[in-house]
Amino acid sequence: MIELGMRFVRLCPICGSEAYSDSVICPECASQLDSECFDSFMTRCPKCFYPRISDQYPCKRCSCSGIESSKVHQVYPVARYDGKLGFSIVDSFKFHNRRELAKVVALYLNRALDVMDSAGKAVVVPIPCSWGRLLRFGWDQMEQVCRYLKRPNISLLRRTDDNLVQQKHLRKSQRQEASGSKFCLEEEVADLDDLKSRKLIVVDDIMTTGSTMDAAISLLEENGFSDVCGATWLAEL
Ligand SMILES: [Zn+2]
Ligand SMILES: [Zn+2]
Repeated sequence: MIELGMRFVRLCPICGSEAYSDSVICPECASQLDSECFDSFMTRCPKCFYPRISDQYPCKRCSCSGIESSKVHQVYPVARYDGKLGFSIVDSFKFHNRRELAKVVALYLNRALDVMDSAGKAVVVPIPCSWGRLLRFGWDQMEQVCRYLKRPNISLLRRTDDNLVQQKHLRKSQRQEASGSKFCLEEEVADLDDLKSRKLIVVDDIMTTGSTMDAAISLLEENGFSDVCGATWLAEL
């Protein structure tokens, strides 16, 4: 925010031009990002929320993943991974230290939270970043995003498999293997029993194979959390 005379002007964190005082980003960036959202060009599976071309086609997640459809986790991705602006924002945010873009990631993740939790009672669980990332950048990207989400959050997950392998350099099949037992439960969490009666939404910025998200949700379910789903801004279908 900058001061022009007595007028305060909010600047768009994406392009730097003026945004309306009540919005995070400028109208041009908003319209580009909205056009990259799945709901502008696809329908969704009513069961798992995965986007699909039309209601005529079966849901790729429910019918082709090889998992029994009642066991497919509900995950709500907001926008396409290969959308031009969305992808470049996440890239700048994660790999070029543009921390202020957490607000933009949160803006779109909040849309998913509102669909998954219309009652507004859920607690958000961020996917933790790797140690390699933490050493390199000194901050956890989803922790940063959680500051701007409209739900309380708790760090319930801890990484177990940190071998400093950068997932983005692995092929898709290797990535699937690499995330077999990625997480364990954080040990010292207060009011765990109270949390088990709440709805949890695991959040991440990008979902590619979905295996990281599935591993996180499965671990929470195995530990007695009965109402767990996921939300992500970008997804590769
Ligand atoms: Zn802008
Ligand atoms: Zn489905």
